[in-house]
Amino acid sequence: MSKAHAFAAHSATTPLTDFDFERREPGPRDVQFEILFCGVCHSDLHTARGEWPGTVYPVVPGHEMVGKVTKVGSEVTSFKPGDLAAVGCMVDSCKTCPSCTAGDQHLCDNFDITFTYNSLDKKSPGKQTYGGYSTHIVVDERFVLHVSPKLNLPAVAPLLCAGITTYSPLRHWDVGKGQKVGIVGLGGLGHMGLKFAHAFGAHTVLFTTSPGKVEDAKRLGADEVVISKNDDEMKKHLNSFDFILDTVSATHNLDALTGLLKRDATLCLVGVPEHPHPSPSVMNLIFRRRSIAGSLIGGIKETQEMLDFCAEKNIVADIELIPIQKINEAYDRMVRSDVKYRFVIDSASLKK
Ligand code: NAP
Ligand code: ZN
Repeated sequence: MSKAHAFAAHSATTPLTDFDFERREPGPRDVQFEILFCGVCHSDLHTARGEWPGTVYPVVPGHEMVGKVTKVGSEVTSFKPGDLAAVGCMVDSCKTCPSCTAGDQHLCDNFDITFTYNSLDKKSPGKQTYGGYSTHIVVDERFVLHVSPKLNLPAVAPLLCAGITTYSPLRHWDVGKGQKVGIVGLGGLGHMGLKFAHAFGAHTVLFTTSPGKVEDAKRLGADEVVISKNDDEMKKHLNSFDFILDTVSATHNLDALTGLLKRDATLCLVGVPEHPHPSPSVMNLIFRRRSIAGSLIGGIKETQEMLDFCAEKNIVADIELIPIQKINEAYDRMVRSDVKYRFVIDSASLKK
């Protein structure tokens, strides 16, 4: 066992504070790495504040981590000490079902996914998994990703969740040249969705509730920016989209978006608000045979593909680097949609 230092939420209503715990010794197929940077996802906040069911306290959030390998188990072949390593939202799965063997562990047919935090830890029976707001982690090498040294490391961290969660649906629905694609919400996920849709060659429209983000949206790759609270601006885009990716973290009216889809087009939801959206209008869907779909992160294979694509195209997140001591302030700003465009924890601050 090794001693880890972390920040944890100890209840839904108290700020995150210091927490010490122990990590297991690396088993034969495990990689241990020192966490250098960890992104702050709105899912961390939903979990820490008990906005989703099932939070077990104390919870150590964080599922966007990059770092340096310090130890490997005897059977590990793909990492050695000193290598860069990254971990996203999952640290284990059944590994045997057709989805897992195809590299789609997030869609495990046995629903046997161990998430990076707030999951029962099969490798340490009776304990919960603890995430990346911590000094180091031990993970099965099959769930550890390779990171290119070419990219700015702190800005790579958010690719592990915000990156793959937007890359995966844009790839699945084959977004590309000649298409008009909408990204809803300019936060952590939204700004990565914008960068990817633009990189894939789509005409990309960003929907925001924050007029102050318009110029940034254009700089990040938007061909057009729409203030979604302005009905006149929204009406100009009726029946015109091939695909819309909705990253919004709060409950909102989906009809305003389904009405913008062309015939047979899809609105894909990745945001998971605390409370359900109002039930969408069936009329809006049956006329023009529109669909509403959802998408969860992405598998390990596709996450590596996304990281390699980012290294090739020089794509990283736009980040604000913070010490862990500012995490509660960062959460409050995230609730106010005041994120430019992902907070990343400098893990060196955990050692102070
Ligand atoms: P974030 O950085 O806080 O961004 C969310 C954005 O949503 C805000 O910046 C804001 O953008 C917009 N927004 C907030 N409140 C709104 C409202 N009432 N109406 C309309 N727009 C609003 O959050 P994130 O980290 O990107 O995460 C977004 C959501 O995705 C969260 O619910 C998170 O849990 C979920 N998530 C899902 C997956 C998955 O696998 N499906 C993975 C990761 C995260 P504007 O200021 O531009 O309006
Ligand atoms: Zn996340």
